[in-house]
Amino acid sequence: MIVVFLGPPGAGKGTQCKELVERYGLLHLSSGDALRRHRKEGTELGQKAQSYMDQGTLVPDDLIVAMMMDEMKNIEQGNGAILDGFPRTIGQAEELDAALAKTEAKVDVVLNLEVDDSKLEERITGRRSCPVCGAAYHITFNPPQRENQCNAGCSELTQRPDDTSEVVQNRIKTYHEQTSPLVEYYQAKGNIVNIDGNVSIDKVTQSIRVAMDEMTIA
Ligand code: AMP
Repeated sequence: MIVVFLGPPGAGKGTQCKELVERYGLLHLSSGDALRRHRKEGTELGQKAQSYMDQGTLVPDDLIVAMMMDEMKNIEQGNGAILDGFPRTIGQAEELDAALAKTEAKVDVVLNLEVDDSKLEERITGRRSCPVCGAAYHITFNPPQRENQCNAGCSELTQRPDDTSEVVQNRIKTYHEQTSPLVEYYQAKGNIVNIDGNVSIDKVTQSIRVAMDEMTIA
């Protein structure tokens, strides 16, 4: 089963992916995480992607598609994956469909997590994480026990450089201009379900479970 997770930055895709991975045994493939890994390792792709990511614009389709095709080689036969942050343009969606069609696979479910713009900035700019163990926090909604310190005692928390207000506005604008047309693209295929992401994490998880059950039984 291939699940595509759509939603603006800060919608809570990463949080919900963790639950989907556990419940359905899917591989979590995040294009943002893969790019950050490339940057950390200093690969050619990482260097090429840097300026786009720092400005909150999209990395060119050819680079992303090649990277994600590589990532998808890790999907084991019989098991599926959840694609988080990919595709983000119509061009990427078309390339994904074409690649899956070669193995008689397809995008089975598209979860479209909808969150009002007014909520996104606070959600994103408050995010912090532990650079050692990866634990995620939010300064308001899920603060660490000691200010700016990981609860496991590993390290000071850090903020993603593109989670600052200036870059966030660009990322939200980019989402509306280049990624939201995918909603119509998948509506035409009849495999998309809209999820209200404005509510609590637990309520969103519940709606996703219902949607996944309906879409996978249908
Ligand atoms: P994310 O972690 O999903 O918010 O992605 C962080 C940044 O990586 C984005 O702002 C883009 O610059 C880049 N990026 C991630 N996924 C894609 C994609 N599918 N297409 C183009 N750029 C991407």
